Amino acid sequence: RLGEGGMGEVFLARQLSLDREVAVKLVRRELVAEEWFLERLEREARLLARLRNPHLVTVHDFLRLPDGTAAVVMELVEGGNLRDRLRVAPNGLPLAEALMLIRQVAAALAAAHAEGVIHRDIKPENVLLDAAGRVRVTDFGMALSLAPSAPRLTRTGATLGTPGYLAPEQLSGADTDPRTDLFALGVLLYEMLTGRLPLGSFEPP
Ligand code: ADP
Ligand code: MG
Repeated sequence: RLGEGGMGEVFLARQLSLDREVAVKLVRRELVAEEWFLERLEREARLLARLRNPHLVTVHDFLRLPDGTAAVVMELVEGGNLRDRLRVAPNGLPLAEALMLIRQVAAALAAAHAEGVIHRDIKPENVLLDAAGRVRVTDFGMALSLAPSAPRLTRTGATLGTPGYLAPEQLSGADTDPRTDLFALGVLLYEMLTGRLPLGSFEPP
């Protein structure tokens, strides 16, 4: 197992046909009984498949499995997530590293926004690092497509996003747009520079 989040568990797997290692995201076992989560995973895979950028995770496949579960097959990103990196730098990252990483997250978001996709859950757990330390943004489970034909998948009462990174319009349940991701990007940069979230009254980094 490589990691887990609110919705999924991600495993290291081997794709036998091509003899390569991949990452496979499954809906958490306790959520599998709800069709809604399987649909959300499929939607996440389709959204990611539309996007192409060196700083976005590449998706290989989406599978409905005979036991009723579903899986997203994607490229394996080997350097852990940004939360792991921040954990060993409790007072923040060196300025040069923080700026390099935030530019790459911004590039990934720009590519998504150019396709009308808002990520809506930018946080260190969803920013992966490859073996060379480059950013791969993942987890489009909360994403919204602004394309008019896109299916809307909302559920009242469902928690959207992560406290601390949420823009005011997300907190109040108003419409989100690309600026929602820029708010989270700013929080992320603050956290990378200081090791803290900009909550309450806070000092400029
Ligand atoms: P959730 O939607 O439940 O938050 P994520 O897609 O964010 O699930 O994945 C959870 C964790 O699994 C990530 O924080 C990361 O540590 C790990 N992970 C996810 N995708 C990959 C991948 N392609 N390669 C390596 N690790 C991954
Ligand atoms: Mg996540």
